[in-house]
Amino acid sequence: MTQLVWFRNDLRTSDNAALTAACSQEGPVRACFIVTPGQWREHDWSPARVRFVVDHLNSLSQSLAQLGIPLHILDADQFRDSPALLESLCREYGIRQLHLNEEYGVNERRRDRAVQEALGDKGVQVSRYRDQTAAPVGTILTQQDEPYSVFTPFSRRWRQWLDANSPSLYGTPRAVAESVHPTELATSLKGYSDAPEPLVPVGEDAAHRQLEQFLENHAQDYKKLRDFPAVDGTSRLSPYLANGVLSGRQCWHAVREATAARGEQEGLLTWMNEIAWRDFYINILYHYPRVSMHRAFKPETEALRWNDPGEEFEAWKEGRTGIPIVDAAMRQLNETGWMHNRLRMVTAMFLSKNLFLDWRLGEAYFMSRLVDGFLASNNGGWQWSASTGTDSAPYFRVFNPATQSERFDPDGEFIRLYAPELSKLDNKRIHQPWTGVIPKGYPRPIVDLKESRKEAIARFQALKNQ
Ligand code: FAD
Repeated sequence: MTQLVWFRNDLRTSDNAALTAACSQEGPVRACFIVTPGQWREHDWSPARVRFVVDHLNSLSQSLAQLGIPLHILDADQFRDSPALLESLCREYGIRQLHLNEEYGVNERRRDRAVQEALGDKGVQVSRYRDQTAAPVGTILTQQDEPYSVFTPFSRRWRQWLDANSPSLYGTPRAVAESVHPTELATSLKGYSDAPEPLVPVGEDAAHRQLEQFLENHAQDYKKLRDFPAVDGTSRLSPYLANGVLSGRQCWHAVREATAARGEQEGLLTWMNEIAWRDFYINILYHYPRVSMHRAFKPETEALRWNDPGEEFEAWKEGRTGIPIVDAAMRQLNETGWMHNRLRMVTAMFLSKNLFLDWRLGEAYFMSRLVDGFLASNNGGWQWSASTGTDSAPYFRVFNPATQSERFDPDGEFIRLYAPELSKLDNKRIHQPWTGVIPKGYPRPIVDLKESRKEAIARFQALKNQ
């Protein structure tokens, strides 16, 4: 009986539950991926992400070919085209079982339900696996069997669960047949050629090398350096994790091995906590589908009256707000498809608190640029910054971007890199050029930081008094 593996957000051959299950059955194995450019546009996929996925599909196709598994690339436009395409593939190759790793966005869940119903009617069994997180989605619950909505207790339970259950890695399956010819996915796909230079090299092997090198050479300083955007202090593994080239479980195992070899280190533990944040936000998406339907996690914040987006929103997107750290960060995003975590928080708070523009606008813009755009983490990060989400920054805690800049980019090294028109300013003025003559070509601040902060707090307070 022929088995089919449907790849989506899990572009890897190692530690892949669906692939492993398919290969453990008798009979040939086939794989497929459905290209849905229309859906990707609706989900604000960036050119950088389209390119990353296409390049990794071509790499995956080669790895699968070595295992004797042909990869079928099915052309569609929207998720809703999936049932008919899969039905036809199953009919053509006499497939009786489809294996897939679950995804948790609302549209993805609807798509999977429709596929399950359509294939079920044709006698094809659909087997689903919870493989996106280090600890299976839905297993980390409070003592009352409720989902956690606060990170710290979630992460404590998450660690206990992983230590107690130590989920093993699936490894790469053995070849199921003679190797086959790999399929090539056309790089003429819309968006591909508009992408910035790739942030990280292509392929699972490259992802694993990067993980090893990070743990070996940088993890010990992670706690100290991770907040400084001019320093190469974080792993830059996010594009691999967001598209499933690397699994959360693999990261957890790698940290455990490093800890066993070198003893417990603060840097390793701090980094592991970031993998816990990823699992936390995926669980939020799973338990609270409203967050993937443009709704606030805290329903009462839906009553906030955001300002109308106009020229200020354009200035934020293009990195010309007159606040150097915000502008440098937005230009990093626009030029590279990636932004440092500290700056994601700074720019998101600036948009939602100082400009008082709807966080959903920023969420969509980030998605349309990021190579690591990932609904759960992007939505979680935006709602945290806008104080509308789980465990979010309290509404009265508004970062002052100039102070953040002085603290985390003390010599203005990062600002100089992306805002060269400010490069001649000294290390003090570079954070607040408006305190003297502003260099030619650089704008005045579009908003008063102190006044806008007060106004944002007042609007949140008014909400409380309603
Ligand atoms: P490292 O510091 O090396 O962390 C390792 C991994 O842990 C990351 O690759 C990522 O998978 C995970 N991680 C780290 N921080 C977080 C976090 N706060 N929440 C969830 N997972 C985390 N991350 C995305 O992967 N995709 C997004 O679309 C995204 N959007 C964000 C939007 C905002 C407004 C904010 C504040 C954060 C966002 N993040 C997002 C989280 C974080 O900024 C990035 O994961 C991180 O900057 C990626 O760089 P790195 O791989 O070097 O991270």
